[in-house]
Amino acid sequence: MDFINYKKYIEENDLVIAFVKREPPFLLKVDSKASYNNKFGNFKHSNIIGKEYGSRIPSHNQKAYMYLLYPTPELWTMVLPHRTQILYMPDIAFITTVLDLKPGSIVLESGTGSGSFSHSIARTIAPHGHLYTYEFHEERAKFARQEFSDHGLGNIISIECRDVCKNGFNIENCVNAVFLDLPAPWEAIASAKAAFKQNQIGKICCFSPCLEQVQRTCVVLNEAGFSEIQMFECLVRTHDVHTIPVYTISDAVAKLKVQQAKKRKRVSDDEDREMVPEQSKQEGKSDPPNLYVSRTTRETKGHTSYLTFATFLPVLNEELDAP
Ligand code: SAM
Repeated sequence: MDFINYKKYIEENDLVIAFVKREPPFLLKVDSKASYNNKFGNFKHSNIIGKEYGSRIPSHNQKAYMYLLYPTPELWTMVLPHRTQILYMPDIAFITTVLDLKPGSIVLESGTGSGSFSHSIARTIAPHGHLYTYEFHEERAKFARQEFSDHGLGNIISIECRDVCKNGFNIENCVNAVFLDLPAPWEAIASAKAAFKQNQIGKICCFSPCLEQVQRTCVVLNEAGFSEIQMFECLVRTHDVHTIPVYTISDAVAKLKVQQAKKRKRVSDDEDREMVPEQSKQEGKSDPPNLYVSRTTRETKGHTSYLTFATFLPVLNEELDAP
């Protein structure tokens, strides 16, 4: 399977991200002898082989379709086997933009965790960039290494099993961007600083769920000479779009007068809501024009972590030349 280069037809042992109805997607590894069963029916893998990615197959009872999608980093994040907490797309998109990741970027990441962000980074920086990722948990590092290789990312990602807080990163003067998703990112900042290309501007992001962690990170970033220290939180808000009638001033005045009259007669609220402007009715006017408006929920839930960004400024030539 290759997460960088797309292919058209599904073959034995390929990965497929499958959707049935409005249920969450799931991962299939195509095996001609297997079949997938759910409440909507039975789907034989043998019917998938030879189909185009993006097509669909019916269940045995013809009651539902299974949509067969190519695994992209976005879809992988939705279905991957969780070995840790992971980064999701809203944070991934924002961090990728602010760290200015692009084809050719050299990136340092720790910890690798379940490799959710690593897949997106690899796709963004391919084909000539490189991701150095560090994970101190042996099993997680082993799983991630195998996944990267199975997904055609072995040349773009180097993974090392290492405690970066105790032993630092083993690269210097090399990367454009650093991403730290660690319980104590401040312990890795000095070593991360040395990993930046010393003659270029670089960006660092630390991903921490608590404000106390953000505070310690900011202090250490500042002491280490980083600039433009900023903290963001990425929250998803649903916009409920609907229309409202736009009344003219005379319509609104007429409406108010009617409301007051009705109030005096103690007319119920329900009747009041269904009221059409009296003046429009009297003058035989058409309905007022509609205006699109959007409403959002007052409270936005879904906190994942705070994102602390800072800029690494290059060492000036005079400083390098100084005795
Ligand atoms: N960002 C990852 C993703 O999107 O899948 C998830 C990272 S997970 C929340 C944090 C990882 O950091 C864990 O797997 C943990 O083992 C690793 N870790 C914690 N302390 C570490 C250290 N000192 N050195 C290296 N890895 C460490």
